[in-house]
Amino acid sequence: MNILILGGGGREHALAWAIAESPKCDRLHAAPGNPGIAELATCVDLDIEDGAAVAAYAAAHDIGFVVIGPEAPLAAGVADTLRAAGLLVFGPGREAARLEASKSFTKQICDACGAPTAAWARFTAEAPALDYLQRTGAPVVVKADGLAAGKGVTVAMDLGTAQDAVRAIFAGAFGDAGAEVVIEEFMEGEEASFFVLCDGTDILPIGTAQDHKRARDGDAGPNTGGMGAYTPAPVMTPEVTRAALERIVQPTLAEMARRGTPYQGVLYVGLMIRDGQPRLVEYNVRFGDPECQVLMMRLGAQALDAMLACAEGNLAGASLNWAPDHAITVVMAAPGYPGSYPRGQRIGGVAAAAKGDPQVRIFHAGTAEADGALVSAGGRVLSVTARGATLREARERAYAAVAAIDWPEAHWRTDIGWRALARDE
Ligand code: AMP
Repeated sequence: MNILILGGGGREHALAWAIAESPKCDRLHAAPGNPGIAELATCVDLDIEDGAAVAAYAAAHDIGFVVIGPEAPLAAGVADTLRAAGLLVFGPGREAARLEASKSFTKQICDACGAPTAAWARFTAEAPALDYLQRTGAPVVVKADGLAAGKGVTVAMDLGTAQDAVRAIFAGAFGDAGAEVVIEEFMEGEEASFFVLCDGTDILPIGTAQDHKRARDGDAGPNTGGMGAYTPAPVMTPEVTRAALERIVQPTLAEMARRGTPYQGVLYVGLMIRDGQPRLVEYNVRFGDPECQVLMMRLGAQALDAMLACAEGNLAGASLNWAPDHAITVVMAAPGYPGSYPRGQRIGGVAAAAKGDPQVRIFHAGTAEADGALVSAGGRVLSVTARGATLREARERAYAAVAAIDWPEAHWRTDIGWRALARDE
């Protein structure tokens, strides 16, 4: 079958790699793709939030399956348009995508189904929000309700920071995403992400991960899209996993189905775990980036079977073959990221850095080609990913590949995986 992937980051390169490993994939297409994806797929410049344009491309190229990587096309209802055109699609429709597109929607779902999460309140004007903060005090968490490219959340350790965050959101710092504000109880604990495929009725857990959001070693510096990740997450013991499924994931999916908007796609379940008890931090309606890179590294070709079963409503009885190993990814970023950064820096040695080792993959994110050379073209540029029998082994492999890449200006964290490794010591 011919398959189209929407997106062009490290997440989509990892999806493209896993899908291309499968004998079920004939021709692979990607929109817009990137130079790494272009080694595996035909890349095309489409507006991926325009469902009609994507459907027309799919019809013209005999596409049998569309995999939607990022949240923006999902929130824009591209999956609905494609399904209405008779295509098989991986990813939820617009209504179900509200689990990511609106924080207050998710909170209402949690309240309706009893899923444990932080206490919350929603405001559409500044004065009542500030009054509420006076009563709750800090620490407290202030969130713009809508999609804000991961930047709409302030974890405020003091009241002044929380008040500033409320004022900034209502002053339009996040545009329409800030028409409403959600104020939440601050939850303490260890965070982990849990990924579950859902076909509207049945589910298939496909792994756990922990990421590293801060720009610098020791979890210092500003928040980023993610500087690295590893799988599995040791805090997700079988007991915690069962509790998350029984108390959070299954009740949420039942509530979505009850409302007539069953969820189909991957549900990214952000959890805070304390004393063995998981509570929901957030849902995302797509794979995380860079978490996807480590999940795909371990799943390989069977990821396509699982995503197809998900899209076809055939997850009942589906299972995965897990090697008892670990994967880690280290993001190489442009100097200055997540602030302003230069583009167009030459990057050499990428192909050679993996040394032909199938346990190492270098996924492209913000790269471009200029005069036949690879250059940086974004903030997060490469996801250097490796697997190993232990996390330590995977990590050594990944950092050896990072060291072999010739990009002197690059910035990366040297401590990806520290939390999991500290547990063993
Ligand atoms: P969100 O986009 O809702 O996941 O928030 C981004 C990050 O803020 C999360 O990954 C957490 O690290 C943190 N966060 C969000 N909500 C809370 C909360 N209620 N308590 C503590 N930390 C939170």
